[in-house]
Formats: sequence, structure tokens, C-alpha cells
Amino acid sequence: MRSVSVFGATGSIGESTFDLLMGQGGPAAYRTVALTGGRNIARLAEMARTLGAEIAVTAYDDCLPDLRDALSGSGVVAAAGAAAIAEAAARPADWTMSAIVGAAGLVPGFRALSHGGTLALANKESLVTAGPLLLREARRHGARILPVDSEHSAVFQALAGEDLASVEHITITASGGAFRDWPLDRLARATVAEASTHPNWAMGQRITIDSASMFNKALEMIETREFFGIDPARIEVLVHPESLVHAMVGFRDGGVIAHLGTPDMRHAIGYALNWPDRSHLPVGRLDLARAGSLTFRAPDPVRYPALRLAREVMEAGGLCGAAFNAAKEAALDAFIAGRIGFTVMAEVVETVLERLSASGDLGNAPGDLDMVLQADRAARRVAADVMTARQGS
Ligand code: NDP
Ligand code: MG
Repeated sequence: MRSVSVFGATGSIGESTFDLLMGQGGPAAYRTVALTGGRNIARLAEMARTLGAEIAVTAYDDCLPDLRDALSGSGVVAAAGAAAIAEAAARPADWTMSAIVGAAGLVPGFRALSHGGTLALANKESLVTAGPLLLREARRHGARILPVDSEHSAVFQALAGEDLASVEHITITASGGAFRDWPLDRLARATVAEASTHPNWAMGQRITIDSASMFNKALEMIETREFFGIDPARIEVLVHPESLVHAMVGFRDGGVIAHLGTPDMRHAIGYALNWPDRSHLPVGRLDLARAGSLTFRAPDPVRYPALRLAREVMEAGGLCGAAFNAAKEAALDAFIAGRIGFTVMAEVVETVLERLSASGDLGNAPGDLDMVLQADRAARRVAADVMTARQGS
């Protein structure tokens, strides 16, 4: 029987993963090792009972009493805290879903590689902050990383049986997010509620806001660079409002292979779950006659400064990815809390990168996770200073 663990089980990707596991036999087909969540204790306990997990872990110590109550009599062990999540990741499982949101997903994903199974990687922040370390750890333990981000799953599928050396470009598509057609002068006043609606995909709030700012696509450019090892100059982004073409790979003979599908993450998750087989998946089927037309346009650099920042980060290398992501997370927290405006997020991230680069702190290649976590903390500190100074001025 195949063993599985799901990190971030109570989130959007986690729910879709649970849905697929249940659709493919649930506890009769899978032995569930660990499920983790944050504050949604009732749902975490319900999932753990349903799948008969060995252990359920909440990220927060203050949630442990509730989790223990909710699991009493079930035989599922309850635990709490970031260290307990990392320990749960070290429990061997054949297949692990990494779907915690943000840099908090890095250590559990890294630990999961140590037992040589398959890591289905939704947590793009892991590759952005510590790509070389993650790939090295996978090689060291004979583990396999399968991309779950829809664009990267699409590229992975388009590259099946192909030689990377013959790739001319990789194009990932972007819906353009909530504000793709807004007048530019309105963006500064965009509210959290407005930024939290996505035209095509149903996702967690943070990635939805990152789609409106295109910080999500910026992270995905870096993710493409790290996962496929392709030169940044060959990575392109196209705005594609219909979200039916997820990515395209162009080859040196002029041929282009595109991956299409309805915007439903259960495709990419199910692909990673069943790989190398293709199993029936409960996703909507593409109806191109009904879609009528597929449209594409180049992203507007003024509307989406995050894409320019991603290019700068890729060119600089070193620990820039870790600082970029952490500064973005800090700015996003501040936007959600109503402390800064929508367009200020990119300004904060740019200032943080400038300051840390000037001090020479980001030049080193990440030698180990501690260096990455230090760069992450430094960027959050500088971001806090920058935002405080802005508020004071
Ligand atoms: P959600 O916000 O919906 O879920 C996040 C999950 O992580 C929840 O289980 C949450 O717990 C848990 N969590 C939150 N904070 C912490 C923490 N500090 N430590 C441990 N666990 C925590 O996110 P998504 O499912 O949307 O995204 C998950 C990851 O997948 C992200 O990296 C995202 O970029 C990536 N991704 C998501 C896609 C999507 O369609 N949603 C598409 C492609 C990639 P709780 O809710 O119980 O508090
Ligand atoms: Mg994506």
C-alpha cells in the first residue's frame, strides 16, 4: 500500500489533494502518515480521522489542546509547532505533498526528501528560496521532485521525452489577475477584498493577491529557472486571460508544445500523484469550440513591476531569491493588514533588495538551509524598517 503525507492539508491545494486521495480509494488505497495544518483544527482532525493518519500536526502551539480534543479516541497522534511539522516530514512516506503556504514550507519539504520518496511540490517558495539546495538534497537521497504548480507541471509534461538542450524558450502564462483591465491610476487604491478575487482559479488568499500583483508569476519565473535549469533569458511570460494554456515549450526546430487544460489544480496534483501513469481525474474537460478563442498579450511592465524584479533576482542569483520572497511575504502581510497600499508592495520589495544587495549580504550562493533562513530573516527585518519609515514620513 502506498504511503502518503500532506503538508498544508487544510489549504486550497491540501483540500484538492484530499479530494483526489479519497476519489482514488482513500484509506483503502493509501496509508496516511502525516497531515498538517494551521488554525483550521476542525478540518485537520476530520481529514486525519477519515484517512486514519498516524499523526496530525498544527503549526501553532496554542491550537494543540483543541487538536487533541478533536482527535480523542481516534488513535491519531496530535502534535504542534514548526519543529513537530519538520519531524513529521522526516517520517518516511512514498509520496509527500508540500502545500504549506510561504517560506514555512521550505524545511518540511527539505526534510521529506531525506527518505527518498516523491515530493509533489506546490510550495513554489522552496525552489525560489533554496532551489539548488533542494535539488541537491533530492539527488543525495534518490528522491524525486514533481512540480505541482500548474505552469511547471505543464512544462514538465511538455518536456517528457525531450532533451533540455533543444529547448529555445519556456513560456508560462498568467491570467493577469484581478486588476488586469483596471486603469493604472486605480491600482494604488485597490482593496484587499478586490485583490482577493481571481478571474479563473480558486486558490488561497495569499496566492490570489500575488496573482493580482504578479508576484506569483515572478516567483514562478524563478521556480522555472531553478527547476528546469534554464537560462533566465529564455523564460517568458504571456498574459492569457482564458487560463487554458498553462505553459509552452519552444524547441530549436521551431516547434512549440503547449499544455492545455481547464483551470483546476486537481489536474496537476493528480498528475503528480499518479505519475508516471495517467489515471482518470475528476476535472472538467477542455471544450475549445465553446472557449471560442484563446488570446495572449505581453505583460505591461508598468502594471506588473514584480516581473522586472524577478529578472533582476535571477540575474543576481545567490541568496536574492530568499530575500525577494521574504520581502514579498512581509509586504503582503502588511497589505492584508491594511498597513500599506497595493502598489507599495513592489516598492518595498525593491527597496529591500537594493539595501541588502548594497551591503553585499546576498552575494553568496546558499550553502545550507541556515544561510537561506538568515537571508529570509534579514529581508523581513529590512522590510519592516522600510515600511515603518514610510508610515512615519
Ligand atoms: P492556503 O492558504 O489555502 O493553505 C495553506 C496551508 O498552509 C493551510 O493548510 C494552512 O493552514 C497552512 N499554513 C499556513 N501558515 C502556516 C505555517 N506558518 N506553518 C505551517 N502551515 C501553515 O494556500 P494554497 O493551498 O493556496 O497554497 C499552498 C502552496 O501552494 C503555496 O506555496 C502556493 O503558492 C502554492 N500553489 C497554490 C496553488 C493554488 O491553486 N492554491 C497553485 C499553485 C501553487 P490553515 O489553513 O489550517 O491555517
Ligand atoms: Mg501557478
